[in-house]
Amino acid sequence: MAKMRIGKTDLHRLPINLIMFLMISVGSASIYYALGGTHGETAVDSITDVIPIVSYVLFQILFNQFSIKLISRFLYKKEAKWLDSGFFWDLLTASLVLPIGLILYIVFAEYGLSAIFFVGIPFVFISGMLMLYHNSKLINDYLKKTSIIGHELTGKLGVKEVLDIFVQRLSELLPVDYIYVYDVCSANRMKLIRFFDRSNEIDFPNIQLSKGQSISGNTWSKGGSVFYKKKADWSHLENRYTPGRGESVLSVPIERNNDIVGIVTIFSNRKHAFFQFQFMILNILGNYLGVAIDNARHYEKTKEESERCGLTGLYNYRYFEDHLENVFDSWQKEQRVEPISLILLDIDHFKQVNDTYGHESGNEVLASLAERLQEVVGTQGTLARYGGEEFVLLLPGSDETEAIEVAYSIRTSLIQRPFISYEHMNNTPEPIPISVTASIGVATYPDHCEEALDLIRQADRAMYLGAKQRGRDKVASYNEIIQTVQ
Ligand code: GH3
Ligand code: MG
Ligand code: MG
Repeated sequence: MAKMRIGKTDLHRLPINLIMFLMISVGSASIYYALGGTHGETAVDSITDVIPIVSYVLFQILFNQFSIKLISRFLYKKEAKWLDSGFFWDLLTASLVLPIGLILYIVFAEYGLSAIFFVGIPFVFISGMLMLYHNSKLINDYLKKTSIIGHELTGKLGVKEVLDIFVQRLSELLPVDYIYVYDVCSANRMKLIRFFDRSNEIDFPNIQLSKGQSISGNTWSKGGSVFYKKKADWSHLENRYTPGRGESVLSVPIERNNDIVGIVTIFSNRKHAFFQFQFMILNILGNYLGVAIDNARHYEKTKEESERCGLTGLYNYRYFEDHLENVFDSWQKEQRVEPISLILLDIDHFKQVNDTYGHESGNEVLASLAERLQEVVGTQGTLARYGGEEFVLLLPGSDETEAIEVAYSIRTSLIQRPFISYEHMNNTPEPIPISVTASIGVATYPDHCEEALDLIRQADRAMYLGAKQRGRDKVASYNEIIQTVQ
């Protein structure tokens, strides 16, 4: 039990294993007797005695493997292959141990207890070497899995995705009952951003820690990873943020440019649950996480910047056209029949604003106008700055009448009150009001076009022919201009 690190909660394994071993012993002994095996002096006195002895060992392995698989399948409901590496490993050790056992027996019969020195001690060494081999193979397997997780993490592009995969893989790799991932949000504060509870008993806790507080805060202030084997080692840090049943703990910092940007702390409900090499593995994974989050944040920032206009914060035309095509694609895929409307707005005589008050003032107007549009539109549609002083709004699901209504409320919002400029070229220091109007065009799919980009063209035509040419400060739909032409 000590070697397998089985705690009090797994005590039921003891009677199960005892019964299992009893049955295996009785079963393989029956085979031994059935094949003519005997005891004492006559047990190993002719070459044919090898048959019951070897059969005894083989059946012991078979019964043992069979019981293990039965218990995993039916008691623990785990997928277990009948023939796995454990089976072959058993066969291999038996093929080493059996001849040594026979030799030991023969030498013992001949020379008595001193046989232990000739055979026993070398055997202990061989077992030790096998164990070392087994351990290095185990660590090797862990390192391989860790490297795969590292690749997976650094290949992800979103921060949320990186964190989800990290917690998921960590819970599969190490014998954890709880995982806490903290994000440092200020000089003396960090916040829990991911949580895992294998038993699903604790809801996501809302935890904020300061430096030195609780186990994770302590790792932060220490600036290095910690490894506790049992609760007695960390009871001085116990509080309402630590899981009641937690015993073994590994806690490692996540660093970027030598600054700690987060902490990962994992708990097991068993004492001595983690090996030294698993501590090392968590440190490696912590490093991968740091790099992956950094990459993902950088990617998200660059993506955001490439999709938005720096002056107004609205989406730019590149994003808008992609978005428009995506909407059309999904409409087609889902065979939707609702209309899609688009509003295009061009500020009237905007060149004059620049000429009169200066380019800076023009920029101020554009930025405030974008804000005002956003207020009117809300979450109804997608707003973008399409060109210099042109804005577009996509309204999926809205028909022409609804879109015209939105266009009128935009027009009203512009003429209701002027925009304020602070950086103007007038000779007064006071802010000055600048009034602008706009010409607005509306087009609707499928009435006025068949393809995504045509919707913009038709709205542009409506804006130019229906509003600009008719004196500006107007709302016009594509429908109206065709009717006029006809
Ligand atoms: P109308 O549309 O009513 O025909 O007249 P307009 O003067 O608005 O039209 P035009 O297309 O001739 O000029 C658009 C002007 O918008 C040209 C440019 O000076 C100004 N503009 C475009 N982008 C920006 C910008 O980012 N900042 C500033 N300040 N002005 C801009
Ligand atoms: Mg223009
Ligand atoms: Mg204009």
